[in-house]
Amino acid sequence: MTTDQITVEQLLVNGRRVDGHGEVLDVINPATGQVFARCHCGDAADIDAAVENAQAAFTSGVWRDAPIHHRAKVMNKFADLLEANMEELYRLETLNNGRPITETKAQITRLPEWYRYNAALLLADRTSVVPMAGPYHSYTSRMPLGVVGILSSFNHPLMIASKSLAPALATGNSVVLKPSEQTPLTALVVGQLALEAGIPPGVLNVVPGLGPDAGARLVEHPLVKKAVFTGGTEPGRSIAVATARRFAKATLELGGKSPVVVFDDMDVDVAARGAAFGGFIGAGQTCIAGTRLIVQSTIYQQFVDALVAQAEAIRIGDPALAETQLGPVISERARQRILNYVAIGVEEGATVATGGAAAEVAGMDGFFVKPTVLSNVTNDMRVAREEIFGPVLVVIPFEDEDDAVRIANDSDYGLGSSIWTRDVARAHRVASRFEQGIVWVNDHHRLDPCSPWGGVRESGQGREGGWESFHDFTNVRSVTIRTDSTDVDWYAGVGQERLN
Ligand code: NAD
Repeated sequence: MTTDQITVEQLLVNGRRVDGHGEVLDVINPATGQVFARCHCGDAADIDAAVENAQAAFTSGVWRDAPIHHRAKVMNKFADLLEANMEELYRLETLNNGRPITETKAQITRLPEWYRYNAALLLADRTSVVPMAGPYHSYTSRMPLGVVGILSSFNHPLMIASKSLAPALATGNSVVLKPSEQTPLTALVVGQLALEAGIPPGVLNVVPGLGPDAGARLVEHPLVKKAVFTGGTEPGRSIAVATARRFAKATLELGGKSPVVVFDDMDVDVAARGAAFGGFIGAGQTCIAGTRLIVQSTIYQQFVDALVAQAEAIRIGDPALAETQLGPVISERARQRILNYVAIGVEEGATVATGGAAAEVAGMDGFFVKPTVLSNVTNDMRVAREEIFGPVLVVIPFEDEDDAVRIANDSDYGLGSSIWTRDVARAHRVASRFEQGIVWVNDHHRLDPCSPWGGVRESGQGREGGWESFHDFTNVRSVTIRTDSTDVDWYAGVGQERLN
């Protein structure tokens, strides 16, 4: 691709494409290491402009005060347009983040469901009448927050943005979406489709930009009433502080080191297939990647052997091809970090059962890493405690159920987890003892718009999905109406029997 063929994307503010005042960044295809587009970045002043436009749209009431049936209709049209443009979206997403097209397709063909589900919640939501004592009719209603800032990560740009965009818009808020600087393109297409669907200009603004610059300004802006951040735990901590300082809400979807517990009543090959799926899809670059495999000692070696066979059979290659099962990681920097962790593991005493090196793909200069299994790992090692965010799985033995639960919960993180057993009573028992935001039994990675998603401990706070997320884009208003005809005359002693 020559320089003059490379498109330069702009920000989307108040329904118009505009240049940003930050750098114009190269957008890189991680499979080839080549620049295939460039994108304007917003700086703090561009964020201010986007937030002010979003606030103006909110204050005008053009979306906030539109009848809910209208908003639901527009959300459904938005879903239809996403569906109609799905092929462009998943091809562009794969080009930008290197995730194999089969995975991207399987993930983002479901995007419209998020918009339809939240449109349905909008129509299904009910307020409540509360049983206040005395001559009162008291009820609750909900009000949107105002401007919501959404900051998304590189790994699943569209899914992550949509998980919050859908409820934020359905409930009548305005949004400034700041996609990852590494993967800004599909969010801009979605912003354009939102306009086409009838979401008024200014209600959804898309401002690509750098985290410490545009991102930091977005979460600090006094008009931003809620920040939804998906990313690393350390930036998440600074965002928690920035939002708390001015009492804004924050949903923080942070890192993970998800335990996958395999009991010896499980068929070893079935469990190994499940573990490979849990750990290697997205080249291990998913927050809920099952990277900490906790396996009953009676089947430990058998399981490691089966997992190694699985890992070695995975087809690494061009993510644009349907037969590819593992693409590159996002950057050379990420690849080096991942390989460095393998070296740390070896220094700590782990064994590289397979992988542990860069992978060569003919004709492609991208950032490929072999699927890696580290055995002889204990839960105190850094490779078992820190998020590697790459295709590296560690296998830790356990003796009995209590031991499995103890190891699974012994982590700074607490996001996804899975339990592999044929014993249904044990599945429920162990799930009830897991201190994790999400537990799957005999499965992994399953996400649905109705299912709350989020972590505990250093994996963050708040939930995406379901009623929990929908309602968190609103505040409750309590309305109390006096229903008798007595005058309130406090100073004459009438009605002094109750106060506050
Ligand atoms: P990242 O933290 O580098 O960036 C995420 C987003 O935050 C980007 O838009 C970035 O520009 C912005 N950002 C970075 N620093 C910021 C700051 N100081 N202030 C404001 N914004 C800032 O993360 P990444 O590398 O894109 O994604 C990988 C991380 O995301 C992993 O830790 C992964 O576990 C996590 N993640 C979590 C979930 C979840 O649901 N819990 C989902 C996906 C990814």
